[in-house]
Amino acid sequence: MDFKKFSLMINEIKVATFADSLAQGRIMATRCKKCNCEYYPPQSDCSQCLSQEMDWFECPTEGKLVSFTQIMVLPEHFALPELSVPFAKATLTPSPVGLLDVKEGIRIMGWIPRTSANDLKVGDRMKASPQALDDGRVTIILEMIE
Ligand SMILES: [Zn+2]
Repeated sequence: MDFKKFSLMINEIKVATFADSLAQGRIMATRCKKCNCEYYPPQSDCSQCLSQEMDWFECPTEGKLVSFTQIMVLPEHFALPELSVPFAKATLTPSPVGLLDVKEGIRIMGWIPRTSANDLKVGDRMKASPQALDDGRVTIILEMIE
């Protein structure tokens, strides 16, 4: 695996469906055909019954914010591409990252761009969606539901 491109640009064959679907705007999870356990992030092997027979399904994307924190120094590819400091490659604007409970046992992590952690609270209704970054990578963002 190329760690330089780790951020959801995964080349493993078993999870290629996840990356391809994200690029098409869908967040996918896996479900064990034998015991019905569901996994997000998707797993290709069931850790409950050890079966390798898994089905893909599209995750619900709306849910409640379970937890969040503020990242002070973002990975370069998440930083806003505006230059505010001489010689800096990007603006270091802190950004929250949160965990969204969309279904029993399924929680989606995502960036909450252009929002202050002060404006968030546990229980907020939010929606997760894939977003293509300028460099071609795809990430997941969380946005408030009006
Ligand atoms: Zn299983």
